[in-house]
Amino acid sequence: MLSDSTFSVSQIRTHFPILNQLVNEFPLIYLDNAATTQKPISVIEAVSRYYLNDNANVHRASHQLSNRATCAFEAAREKVKNFINAADSKEIIWTKGTTESINLLANVLAPQLTKGDEIIISALEHHANIVPWQMLAERIGIVLKVIPLTDNSTLDIDAYKLLLSDKTKLVAVAHISNALGVINPVKEIIKLAHQTGAQVLIDGAQAVAHQRVDVQELDCDYYVFSGHKLFGPTGIGVLYGKQHLLELLPPWQGGGEMIKSVSFEHTTYNDLPFKFEAGTPNIAGVIGLAAAVDFINSYDRQDFLKHEQCLLAFTERALAQMPEIKLFCAGVEKSGAVSFAVKGEHPTDIAMLLDAQGIAVRSGSHCAMPLMKALNCSGTVRVSFSIYNTIAEAQRFIEALKNVVQMLQE
Ligand code: PMP
Repeated sequence: MLSDSTFSVSQIRTHFPILNQLVNEFPLIYLDNAATTQKPISVIEAVSRYYLNDNANVHRASHQLSNRATCAFEAAREKVKNFINAADSKEIIWTKGTTESINLLANVLAPQLTKGDEIIISALEHHANIVPWQMLAERIGIVLKVIPLTDNSTLDIDAYKLLLSDKTKLVAVAHISNALGVINPVKEIIKLAHQTGAQVLIDGAQAVAHQRVDVQELDCDYYVFSGHKLFGPTGIGVLYGKQHLLELLPPWQGGGEMIKSVSFEHTTYNDLPFKFEAGTPNIAGVIGLAAAVDFINSYDRQDFLKHEQCLLAFTERALAQMPEIKLFCAGVEKSGAVSFAVKGEHPTDIAMLLDAQGIAVRSGSHCAMPLMKALNCSGTVRVSFSIYNTIAEAQRFIEALKNVVQMLQE
């Protein structure tokens, strides 16, 4: 099917003026959405309206501007709570992004863990879901176990079952792989972990923009994501945690906002969610993220997903017909992204030659070096879609890639 699906991509594109530009004298085709998405006008305007009209620190003063900023800040928390169907807005902790959310969790879980306890991650994690756990392993002697991949580069669930034991305290895996676009069976992973008494953290950085996420239905203990991959600003993200678990955890950073009272003899900590939000937060980022959620909610999510699947299916089919291309995870259910290599060529050369034709794709290890090692390659070229990409763009990408391949192999 070569249509742009049932909803109007051209209407969507009017919200993203950045797309209307020439790059290297070609119309920009932005296919690097897994790295960051473009921002609709409503998000840009919400951020500038806040700075133009309401700028003040939150929660601290009894003047009008601070009241307005605080109302918008807390309304955003409620909005994000509804967006992922958390049970309570206390379960939404603002962070800088996915990376900070995972680091926060690694630090506050430390007191609950002892030498020899095990944390399970997977072979396809982003470095953000590997290194914080390695740092914890160095610090307190926990053991990191890794779910290997099957022959078609999906998670080996049978091997995962064998890794689980009463020593497993946490399982931390990606919802969708940023490098391959593969959707992991997180519901099954969570259920199996809970049967052994382990908690589960889901890295949702790539999932929130491409799936409807319901943390209660998933029954994950923690879920993390970044605003900038969801049409929101950079520097704002979310740590979701089940309230009863967050209550048991100590604060991470100390300072203003996270305390109830301070004296030199005794300091008491604030309630959720403020216990984890020391210092002045990214107020404009929170307001921008709320505008991004409003933007998404103003459409039928199913239309988005259908359109992205259509782009992905077209691209994957076209790549599969090119003998020079090695497709990663061919035929496996994906969301948002497809990764490939051009046999005998360096991924960065491909990306640079596509850029020369105005096409932005990502090349390299995608912050997943252990995955590249498991795939036995130094890197891939990744094409990642969003709702504003068109079938015409996907077609032009394939034509441009054919030209690049021909040029390199002549
Ligand atoms: N995990 C995954 C799966 C990602 O795709 C990313 C971003 N590429 C991250 C973690 C880190 O996100 P951020 O840089 O926004 O903290």
